[in-house]
Amino acid sequence: MTSSNNSEFELIKRYFTQLGAQRTDLLLGVGDDCALVTVEPDYCLAISTDLLVEGVHFFADTPAHDLGHKALAVNLSDLAAMGATPAWFTLALTLPSINSVWLQAFSQGLEQLAVQFNVQLIGGDLARGPLNIAIGVHGFVPKGQALLRSGLQVGDKIFVTGQLGGAAYALSRLLVKQAVPPNLLQKLHCPWPRVREGQALLGIAHAAIDISDGLAGDLAHMLNQSGVGACLQAAALPIPDPIKQALGDEAAIELALTGGDDYELCFAVKPSKLPQLHALALDCCCIGTVEPGLGLRLQYQDGSVNTVISQAYQHFSGESDIDK
Ligand code: ADP
Ligand code: MG
Repeated sequence: MTSSNNSEFELIKRYFTQLGAQRTDLLLGVGDDCALVTVEPDYCLAISTDLLVEGVHFFADTPAHDLGHKALAVNLSDLAAMGATPAWFTLALTLPSINSVWLQAFSQGLEQLAVQFNVQLIGGDLARGPLNIAIGVHGFVPKGQALLRSGLQVGDKIFVTGQLGGAAYALSRLLVKQAVPPNLLQKLHCPWPRVREGQALLGIAHAAIDISDGLAGDLAHMLNQSGVGACLQAAALPIPDPIKQALGDEAAIELALTGGDDYELCFAVKPSKLPQLHALALDCCCIGTVEPGLGLRLQYQDGSVNTVISQAYQHFSGESDIDK
């Protein structure tokens, strides 16, 4: 086998061997056929994978540093939604060519976020192909305590962290080549995974999901899996003021319900646990209540109620997507 400075082994060594936190529970990292890790008794391993595909999840000209950040952030967000503590991740990357400036920036984006959340890169794969980034994350959650989508109960209060619609608004502006306020562009390109909030909610919330495809669609997953419905208060949806000013209330609410990529958490808390939730002083607000009747409803300030049809983005949804 030939070896040059740009062989895949050299690239792995240079960019992906000592990346992220240096964890003592890793027995064997990058370099062998598998990584070996230890898991404490009484904890489950929480495992998730997310894929970023050029042209589908990001534009070709997205800065490499942001892509590194986002590829890991969206994965950490899934751990956050279970209340899990991140530990390790793997990276499967296809690249059209070797661009050392791009690789340096990409690996730095990964590194900075990995260190923040004490996760270590422990393996992966590298091949030539269109730019695709697949990350798998592993974390821990105490047995029996994970925050499941199926945990909603009638009477629960429904909360979301942060604000909604920012990423979708930024994307809509980029698509028509309009300027985007920097904080909303940040939301789209560098979402901050709510890992600390998810962990803090263990034992207080008893169901959660991260909002990747829009609140209405993601909350509908929870409702369906729990066999319940919900009513949200339109006026309670946390939407950034600049979006309300730019779009007007009605379109801003629509965006908050259907826009993707926010990576906030939606979670449910029993009324008896609300004092404990308030004591955490999390960046979150109550948007509605779980009800017995199936489906998602939205109540306006004048008292009127609409049924929400979820229109979350679907990758495969038409006849043309099916092989004949
Ligand atoms: P194999 O052929 O057994 O799949 P590889 O030659 O592809 O192994 O990879 C060699 C080592 O480098 C393995 O430990 C693998 O996990 C790691 N590795 C490969 N690609 C990456 C990557 N993009 N990031 C981190 N580690 C990687
Ligand atoms: Mg391989």
